[in-house]
Amino acid sequence: MSNPIEANPGATTAPAPSDFIRDIVAQHVVEKKYPRIHTRFPPEPNGYLHIGHAKSICLNFGIAREFGGTCNLRMDDTNPAKEDVEYVDSITADVNWLIGGWADHCLGLTPAKAPFYASDYFDHIYEFAVALIKKGKAFVCDMTPDQTDEYRRLGKPSPFRDRSVTENLDLFTRMKNGEFPDGAKILRAKIIVDSPNIWLRDPLLYRIKHTDHHHTGSKWCIYPMYDFAHCLSDYIEGITHSICTLEFEVHRPLYDWILENLDLPRALPKQYEFARLSLGYTIMSKRKLMQLVDENLVTGWDDPRMPTISGIRRRGVRPEALRNFAYNIGITKYNGITDVSVLEFAIREDLNKRALRRLAVLRPIKVVITNFAEGKIEELDATNSPEDETAGKRKVPFSRELYIERDDFAEVPPPKFFRLKPGGEVRLKYAYIIKCEEVVKDTSGNITELRCTADLDSKTGGATSARKVKGTIHWVSAPHAVDAEVRLYDRLFTEAEPEKDGRDFKSVLNPKSLEVITAKCEPSLKDAKPTERYQFERMAYFALDLDSQPGKLVFNRTITLKDAWAKESQKK
Ligand code: ATP
Ligand code: MG
Repeated sequence: MSNPIEANPGATTAPAPSDFIRDIVAQHVVEKKYPRIHTRFPPEPNGYLHIGHAKSICLNFGIAREFGGTCNLRMDDTNPAKEDVEYVDSITADVNWLIGGWADHCLGLTPAKAPFYASDYFDHIYEFAVALIKKGKAFVCDMTPDQTDEYRRLGKPSPFRDRSVTENLDLFTRMKNGEFPDGAKILRAKIIVDSPNIWLRDPLLYRIKHTDHHHTGSKWCIYPMYDFAHCLSDYIEGITHSICTLEFEVHRPLYDWILENLDLPRALPKQYEFARLSLGYTIMSKRKLMQLVDENLVTGWDDPRMPTISGIRRRGVRPEALRNFAYNIGITKYNGITDVSVLEFAIREDLNKRALRRLAVLRPIKVVITNFAEGKIEELDATNSPEDETAGKRKVPFSRELYIERDDFAEVPPPKFFRLKPGGEVRLKYAYIIKCEEVVKDTSGNITELRCTADLDSKTGGATSARKVKGTIHWVSAPHAVDAEVRLYDRLFTEAEPEKDGRDFKSVLNPKSLEVITAKCEPSLKDAKPTERYQFERMAYFALDLDSQPGKLVFNRTITLKDAWAKESQKK
């Protein structure tokens, strides 16, 4: 396949992935089939976007970007009962966050251009319905919804199928004018009553719904069905490639039938299908995610444990990581479950390059350096990022009283324990080698303090620092430490397939998906910024949560440094 970028000078020069849909588009570019490639991302504003949508967004906007085309963000808002402006706003914000940097190729995203709405085309779509009636290709049907379903299932013609054009036009106008209650009549296409493809068995085009719409208000009491509105919205916007997930493959003949039976003057859009994303340890349906929110099993749509784009963002994941993930998993025609570790890997890889290293002790135990003068403070050099020299260094204070991680000390150490133990030595990162001389306990036998001595000739980077010990641990100076609420997030479900064999996904919620602790942080974290990412050395990657306030730090654990679940499943 020729390089789409060369074939299309308007395209960007970023390396692009390749897959069967991009191959089709590239071929069309070579053939000059369309003046411009035009895709769309058409969410229904009835919930927040999830990571499955992210795959579709990256595909649709990605193709526009790679082939010098355009992608529209369009609210597919034909069902007034479930839709809401809150969702329109969250969807717009999420898409902007995910591919904001690609705005040149995105319509409906910049603040000047609001998203597109299928509901803006209701007048046109109504006229298209009238045109089909006039051609004898649509009729008003009085059967109840149950009867309609049954007749379609049996492949039987509706008794109203042969109504005259005049009668159909009159009834459809009266449907529009609000003369009939909900469900009393529907407009149906006249195609093939017993087609092997059920979607062609005189499908529904319009239904009566006396419900206000989030965008059109009370203007309409009839609303087009998804199948009727979608292809026509694509046509109206000049879409060339209408890319959707595999379950719409069986709708494609209807998509084509509607467009081909309207004598439309311009080039018709074509539908292409790819496999939807299913992710291990995750549920993806908006309806079920809404259940988690409504039943307070999470704190909201943007709870950092949710697979929503807003939850993932709040957790501290950067859009680059999600885009890399979307590219890495590829686009195929086969449904399957993607291992969640693929997503986690993309997040770690991105944060490793980006995150500033900081010292923070999550579960502190106090250490007193008995040979370090009381009141003395040393400012030590600490590296901001081993992956990025330009990130520079900062000073961290060292004093007589420190905190170290409780787990970095073992009174009875297991074999190969290279951290601190009674009588043993360990290096404090960026500082000295210390030796544990005494373990202080309270009356119930809990360790309250470790009394240590420092080898004052062993300072990291100092003239006499050559001496090496096996372990290095992190620490913070106790009098300088700032407290932070730290939210340790983990997977929301304990099972890779939460709904396996019809089980209720709520029965396998992970009771340990959130643990809240108070950490002791190095003082520079007082100035933590929401735009920065941090690696608390040896612990995990963190980002500031939006609950943070001046004087109250809240950090979210975005992801651990290593895949703890992989070890667990090996043990099993
Ligand atoms: P859900 O089934 O999760 O409620 P949906 O399909 O009803 O989602 P829409 O708002 O209709 O959600 O989806 C908008 C677009 O995103 C559609 O083109 C759809 O094909 C695509 N999409 C939805 N879920 C996924 C997924 N898991 N993987 C890839 N694309 C998806
Ligand atoms: Mg849908």
